[in-house]
Amino acid sequence: MNKTTQPAYEETISHNGHRLTPQRREVYNVLLADRDHPTATEVFIRAKKRIPAISLATVYNCLETLVECGLAKQVNVEREATRYCPNLSEHGHFICESCGIVSDIPVTKGGSLTQFLKVPSGFNVNHSEITLRGTCPACKKSNH
Ligand SMILES: [Zn+2]
Ligand SMILES: [Zn+2]
Repeated sequence: MNKTTQPAYEETISHNGHRLTPQRREVYNVLLADRDHPTATEVFIRAKKRIPAISLATVYNCLETLVECGLAKQVNVEREATRYCPNLSEHGHFICESCGIVSDIPVTKGGSLTQFLKVPSGFNVNHSEITLRGTCPACKKSNH
């Protein structure tokens, strides 16, 4: 794990006044294990394998805390359940219209998501997201 891009979990949690609980750690581990932008329900199914007693409500709670602490971001896909992403470096998302897979698209080196937009002065950007849609390499292959 690259220490410069992924802050120490304990550090981040304590800075924000949240206690480190085994459930929160486990939910965070689930997010880090597979970078496929799971929904809360998918995280719940994966976390249950490690903590059988965990409930969906607890998973929702843990995810909320991780987002508050800045350890994960919410990814909103129209008409779909919110997905979660632990990649904290600036990036956009590519959604495959055939299989629904969500992939991280990095910004060009030294760039940012807003660099190609002319944001007028007086507007303060706190949050930016870019979502691209199309066909992923795997689906492209199977269609042609
Ligand atoms: Zn696909
Ligand atoms: Zn992402």
